[in-house]
Amino acid sequence: MTVTVDRSVEDFITTPRQLFIDGQWTDAASGQTFETPNPATGETLAQVAEGDAEDIHRAVRAARRAFDDGPWSRMTPSDRGRLIWKIGDLILEHADELAQLESLDNGKPVGVARAADVPLAADLFHYMAGWATKIEGNTINISVPYMPGANFHSYTLREPVGVVGQIIPWNFPLLMAAWKLGPALTTGNTVVLKPAEQTPLSALLLAQLIAEAGIPDGVVNVVTGFGETAGAALAAHDDVDKVAFTGSTEVGKLIVAASGASNLKKLTLELGGKSPNIVFDDAEAGAVEGAANAIFFNHGQCCVAGSRLFVQEDRFDEVVNGVAEIAKGIKLGPGMESGTQMGPLVSEEQLQRVTGFLESGVSEGATTLTGGGRFGDNGYFVEPTVITNTRPDMKIVREEIFGPVVVAEPFRSLDEIAKEANNSVYGLGAGIWTRDISKAHALAKKLRAGTVWINCYNVFDASLPFGGYKQSGWGREMGHAALEAYTEVKAVTAQL
Ligand code: ADP
Repeated sequence: MTVTVDRSVEDFITTPRQLFIDGQWTDAASGQTFETPNPATGETLAQVAEGDAEDIHRAVRAARRAFDDGPWSRMTPSDRGRLIWKIGDLILEHADELAQLESLDNGKPVGVARAADVPLAADLFHYMAGWATKIEGNTINISVPYMPGANFHSYTLREPVGVVGQIIPWNFPLLMAAWKLGPALTTGNTVVLKPAEQTPLSALLLAQLIAEAGIPDGVVNVVTGFGETAGAALAAHDDVDKVAFTGSTEVGKLIVAASGASNLKKLTLELGGKSPNIVFDDAEAGAVEGAANAIFFNHGQCCVAGSRLFVQEDRFDEVVNGVAEIAKGIKLGPGMESGTQMGPLVSEEQLQRVTGFLESGVSEGATTLTGGGRFGDNGYFVEPTVITNTRPDMKIVREEIFGPVVVAEPFRSLDEIAKEANNSVYGLGAGIWTRDISKAHALAKKLRAGTVWINCYNVFDASLPFGGYKQSGWGREMGHAALEAYTEVKAVTAQL
């Protein structure tokens, strides 16, 4: 049975969507538009303005004006916090619409979007709203050895970085917008946000809510368009002070190059992963379901997906067969159909990419325990897949697949697994399943990853910092750690 789409959502998708610049809805300067498809069918879902370099420039100008001269720069922290809180409230008031849009545009089950993506996005704004009044500097007693007898008063100020470009991916479109906008706004920056071309819709509805909350014109601008044009123009813009990016490591490196070739803008990067999920012999039975959830949640389209499953040898067959049984039982279908547990991948491109990995695994000699290919002929569905008999040098073991595909390997000891788990260019997340709490913490210490989950996986919270070691990124999002990347520290010294 298909979940009925709200009238307001129907209206939203049947009206061509425009860019949001300086508080106004506007066509792209070129007049171009692009289609965003429904990944469950491949049919056009909505028509969206295709912003490019000129629109990015307009949006950056608006953001600069709002930063330098607008009411935003004069607003008290308390007032700013109240407006950000209101965004969280409005997200909750529009939760059903946002969940439906997310499901239609991204493919994820509407129930999951309603239970996870939307409330987490609201909570992020609520959490960050509280920080607006708590951005503080320090007073520092200084010595200055070459000025004996001199007296000083020194203190630091934490100031907003300025105009921030934010480039986000398609796997959690609304939530990624929240992770980016919350800390930027609470610290007083202004923003040009570019959603992913595959999933532009929820960020546009969010822009409506942001305006309704009373955020002044020009503080948040949303420019939809493609990565190579709009995204690249934002990364290269000389009047953008910082870019916050979430996406592939490959594009992350392009953003670093664009910063270096332009104004050396500050960067935070949340990139790829190939996260190890480690099940010891003494793990509770729930580890099997945990391992399945670690990889299959959001169809494996999570940068932190537990895509390398390591099981201690005595339990290997039981755990891996258990995950395979769960995989076989997952109900695939359109995100808007009730009962669907896994929707389609986001795009034709991702379908080709993921099935390409599956073929490479087979040709390199791995064994497909379950799944292994496309599901159905319509839309972009891939079967939940478990692969064994792998070698560490295989492409499917080394590279991020970003689909519902897990590779499983046995291990013997804690020392061996610590080494193997860290044998990756990535370092985003890791899972540990054991009843031995000292073993768990000993291993957590050894893992080179930004997040370690013990006897759980995919637990996120607005107050927990998230980000990567190694090529999984620079900086942290969420928690108070995120505020550092959105502020500059100014040291002021007065001689008394
Ligand atoms: P994925 O491979 O998961 O689609 P990408 O890293 O390609 O992820 O995309 C993440 C975001 O980066 C999207 O908003 C996309 O439009 C943008 N993007 C892609 N290429 C570039 C680029 N060259 N410069 C800036 N942004 C880009």
